[in-house]
Amino acid sequence: MLAFARKIILIGAIMGLTACSSGPMEQRTLMVFGTLVEVMAATDDASAFSDAMSEIEQRFQTMHRDLHAWKPGMLVDLNNAIANGETFCVSDEIAELIRRSAEFEQLTGGRFNAAIGKLVGMWGFHTDEPVQGRAPPSFLDIAKVLEAKPSASDLSIDERNCVTSSNPMVALDFGGIAKGHAVNVAIDILRKHRIENALVNAGGDLRVIGMKHGRPWHIGIKNPFGEGAIGELDVLEDESVFTSGNYERFNDYEGVRYAHIIDPSTGRPVMGVASATVVHPDAVLADAVATAMVVAGVTRWKDLVAAFKLRQAMLVDEDGQIHTTTPLRERMKASRK
Ligand code: ADP
Ligand code: MG
Repeated sequence: MLAFARKIILIGAIMGLTACSSGPMEQRTLMVFGTLVEVMAATDDASAFSDAMSEIEQRFQTMHRDLHAWKPGMLVDLNNAIANGETFCVSDEIAELIRRSAEFEQLTGGRFNAAIGKLVGMWGFHTDEPVQGRAPPSFLDIAKVLEAKPSASDLSIDERNCVTSSNPMVALDFGGIAKGHAVNVAIDILRKHRIENALVNAGGDLRVIGMKHGRPWHIGIKNPFGEGAIGELDVLEDESVFTSGNYERFNDYEGVRYAHIIDPSTGRPVMGVASATVVHPDAVLADAVATAMVVAGVTRWKDLVAAFKLRQAMLVDEDGQIHTTTPLRERMKASRK
């Protein structure tokens, strides 16, 4: 996807500011869920890096098949079974993502909801590139889903990972946490191969471990309005920076921009927010909460800061005004090159 490719260059260019400080650096780019994933490791062990990358590539291929919300695979089979009132047994990975989704749904007051796949599909986001000019779904179709209140808590999972739903309107879509999960998987594999200093960047959403030859990794936070970064950060040890936005996947219809984050309470795409960013050690949590913050909007995003005891989060509204927690504001100031 072009949008992602552009952002990769942006982040790469920003990180390049400190590249001169360096020592050996291994780097490789892969693709998962239509997103370019850039892996960088500050290591001189090229063979460990290469082994790790082969394993990551294989895992990404499996994930792409198992977790895709609309291409044939395990998740689509599970969603079909749910719609037909049947029980379906899934991988440990899907079972875990369901559990985490249910937990995030509860803690975000339903703003993060991985069970609203039917709404995401109805709004035209179950395609690689959203079709521009596509008419929104009818009020009646939206109301049918809303009345059924699809929720990850409608699912029960037994000890053999067999999933049964009490609600046929549930359709899982892990788009809100897929990148966080992919980044975690990549970091786990790098560590297994004893690579302790690395950065995994999925289209500007990233996690770092360790340092870049004795210095922090320097990264840019995506600007929702175009090129360049909206903030810069020095990150090190084990931190994830995730931004969800209404700027990459959208459909323009009759002068209105409908973007891919849906408010589960209205069944409609969120308006009024350009992006939300969360910094946290857990990439999946950062990804989920960033999505939920877009839904919460300018008036309620602080509810999520409180619910997750976040120190570092940021929201950019549609007028470009930046709202940040104080620790993140201070940190961005200190990190400016
Ligand atoms: P990005 O992938 O651009 O970083 P997000 O992490 O916010 O964006 O994920 C957005 C995706 O999450 C959508 O494309 C859709 O698949 C799914 N989604 C949309 N609305 C919600 C929601 N309210 N809760 C959970 N997932 C959602
Ligand atoms: Mg997300």
